[in-house]
Parts: sequence; C-alpha cells; structure tokens
Amino acid sequence: MDLNSYNNVWVIGEQRQGKIQPVTIELIGEGRKLANQLNKKLAVVIPGNNIDNLAEDLLHYGVDIVYYLKHELLENFSTQGITIAVSDLILDRKPEIVLVGATSIGRDIAPRIAGRVGTGLTADCTKLEIDLTDNKILQTRPAFGGNLMATIICPKNRPQMSTVRPGVMEKAPYTEEVKGTIEVVTPNLKPEMIHTKLVEILELKKRLVNLTDAKIIVSGGRGLKKAEGFELLRKLADKLGGEVGASRAAVDSGWIDQSHQIGQTGTTVRPTVYIACGISGAIQHLAGMSESKYIVAINKDPQAPIFKVCDYGIVGDLYDVIPEMIEWIDKK
Ligand code: FAD
Repeated sequence: MDLNSYNNVWVIGEQRQGKIQPVTIELIGEGRKLANQLNKKLAVVIPGNNIDNLAEDLLHYGVDIVYYLKHELLENFSTQGITIAVSDLILDRKPEIVLVGATSIGRDIAPRIAGRVGTGLTADCTKLEIDLTDNKILQTRPAFGGNLMATIICPKNRPQMSTVRPGVMEKAPYTEEVKGTIEVVTPNLKPEMIHTKLVEILELKKRLVNLTDAKIIVSGGRGLKKAEGFELLRKLADKLGGEVGASRAAVDSGWIDQSHQIGQTGTTVRPTVYIACGISGAIQHLAGMSESKYIVAINKDPQAPIFKVCDYGIVGDLYDVIPEMIEWIDKK
C-alpha cells in the first residue's frame, strides 16, 4: 500500500430521514482542525436520495467538498447500501483519515467499511491529534474498563479510521459564507446487493431524553438511595429547563432508564452546567461529563473524588440541599 497516495480528511455524514445528525457537525469541527494541521482538504460524505438541501447546508460548516452519494437505494438507511457506496468511494478517492460517528448507524457501518477497504478502525476515540513528524493520527480512547487511556496508531494501512461518540467533539460553527463544492456521486448499487428490506418505520412512543444537546443536566447516583429520588431531580431539572442524567450505579439499581446514563458506557455530554447529586466521581462517570463547562457536586462525603473535578462543591445531604435550591429558585 502506497501510503503517500492517500489524501484529505473525510467525515462520513449521518442523516436520519433527511435530518443531519449533530454528531456530523461535531466531526466536521474536529475534521477541520486535523485538515488544517495537515494542510489538506476536509470532505463530508453524505449518503441518501432527495437530500440536495442537506448537502448544501453542510457547506455552511466550512467543508471543502461534499460528496453526495445519491441513489434511490439509499433513500432509507441501508447497512449494505451505505457500506458498499462509501467503501467504493474510499477505494476510488483514497482519503487519508476517515471519521465516523459512534452512533448505532456509525457502529454498524464503520467496521464493515474498514473491512472492505482493508484498514484498521479505532472505536470510541475521545481525542484525535496529528503527529506532525510523519502525519500519523494519534487516536486516544479509554482502555481496560476506562482505567487507562490508550493511544492507537494505524501505521501500515490507509485510511486511518476512527469513530467518535456524539457529544465528545465541539461542533463546527455555521457560517453564511460558502467556499466548498458539492460533487454528486452515483454509487454502483443494485437491488440484489441489498439483502434487507425496509418494511415499516415505527415512531418511538416513549419520551427520549436528549442529553447530548442539554445545556443543564441534573444527574443522580447511588446516593439517591431510591428511584423516587429522581422525582426530586426531575423537579429541579424542570425548574432549570434541563434534563435528568444518571450514573451507572443508579441505572443498574433499576431507578432510571439506561438512556439517562452518562459516562463511558452511557452518553457523553458537555452541558453548560452539570449538577452531580450523590455521585462519587468514578473515572468511568467522569469520562462522560468532565467536559461540562461548570460542574456542581452535591455529596455528603467531603473526600468524594467528584470534588476534585467540580467548579462548585456542596458538602451535604442531597435531600436537604436540593429542596433548598428549588425553594430558592421559586423565590427568585
Ligand atoms: P457510588 O460510587 O456508590 O457513589 C455514591 C455517592 O453518593 C458517594 O460518594 C456518597 O458519598 C454519596 N452519597 C450517599 N448518600 C448521599 C446523600 N444523601 N447526599 C449526598 N451524597 C450522598 N459509571 C457511570 O456512571 N457511567 C458509565 O458509563 C460507567 N461505565 C462503566 C464501564 C465500565 C467498564 C466499568 C468497569 C464501570 C463503569 N461505571 C460507569 C461504573 C463506575 O465505575 C462507578 O461504579 C459508578 O459511576 C458509581 O456510581 P455512583 O457515583 O452513583 O455510586
């Protein structure tokens, strides 16, 4: 493999029913930094059909090229369709770096694409840097249950592929000015290549928690001691216009649904304010919230590790502190 024949940074964009997913904008933000350091171009690949507006929108995030993989077999999500279309484009255009969101869709397609193009894949990266001595990407991710961070390289194959979870990287800013171009590519897809058929799209009935976009998160841990504790947290979160998060210990205790879990095996968040109530601050929890702008910790143990990372710490019983906070907000 001639490594020097590979060029540019690509983001594999994700759209669901014509809506671009936030992780794509986050990866564009990160991709831009990498492309600038390498002095290379940044491209976004967006598979779909009848999403011309979306391809145009992507140009407003400062990308140089949008590869619009347009095909009627890509109208709805198709594992095989996207895998084949993206892999063929990679083999043809040879990008140096490919970033994919570690969403259910990204986790489905990224390893298949890596397998088809014959390269490695580092999953769930939390940090990406360029080693300027040989332009290799240093991909950092938690290892051994989150107890240490491993930095992984892909020395012999190209492209260098990473997945990154939603909420980890900062979004690219929207600009009125557009410099890039759209290239419409028609993938060589035939119905017999797709072995699954979409029968029906079902709407999820239960309320989905949107932790990734929340500006304020009130999060509860084992210190709540019972499921009802989350009702108190919900009250505070509602007053602040925020969402409710949880530690894994609270989820494992069956007090709240797993969709609320924050941390290494839950969602990664970066809200403006994160209020950790009865959470000790285990490394696996911190992995999902340490990028919050302001961390407030309420814990009755002054030695709890969460106090080492918080901006404001309150030593006390959460069942005393939170009602007081609510009362104070009501008075205001
Ligand atoms: P504890 O560590 O038990 O802390 C409870 C805290 O509540 C204590 O500090 C205590 O002082 C305080 N407290 C008790 N009563 C009160 C009160 N009345 N008022 C105020 N404070 C009180 N964890 C996650 O959260 N997210 C993950 O994604 C995650 N992934 C993991 C992945 C792996 C591979 C592994 C091995 C572990 C993972 N964990 C994860 C688990 C993690 O290691 C911790 O066990 C977990 O975060 C602890 O949750 P906690 O802080 O709620 O509970």
